[in-house]
Amino acid sequence: MPRGTSKKQETPRAEDYLEAVYHLLEDKGYANTVDVSERLEVKPPTVSNMVAKLAARGYLLHQPYRGMRLTESGEKIARSVIRRHEIISEFLSMIGVEGGVAYEDTEGIEHHVQPTTIYRIERLVEFLRRNPSHLAEIKKYVSK
Ligand code: CA
Repeated sequence: MPRGTSKKQETPRAEDYLEAVYHLLEDKGYANTVDVSERLEVKPPTVSNMVAKLAARGYLLHQPYRGMRLTESGEKIARSVIRRHEIISEFLSMIGVEGGVAYEDTEGIEHHVQPTTIYRIERLVEFLRRNPSHLAEIKKYVSK
């Protein structure tokens, strides 16, 4: 995860917590408050508050000393935001937006984009992947 850009990162949103827990469970099979706090660069008490809210809403289960598990609905949201992240990130890279700017903008856009919009961006990304000459032309044009 790219870090260290000068611009202050936005406060992580509920979706980012579910996403972080999902990645931690995938990567190490375990997710506790400290792991999430390191991953999202927020203080452990902030993580605890959000985790309690997410647990109350039925998105995750948190057992002290045993870590967190996502419920079915929590996992669905995590997968959805991860998918949005990947599509937007690829799209921005296709139009030549990279590095910290690409990461920060992806983190912002991924929370606001509606399903119909992400579907069309995904279709466009697919089209450009299959048509590298179009992609090259667009990339050149938007970089001028
Ligand atoms: Ca995110």
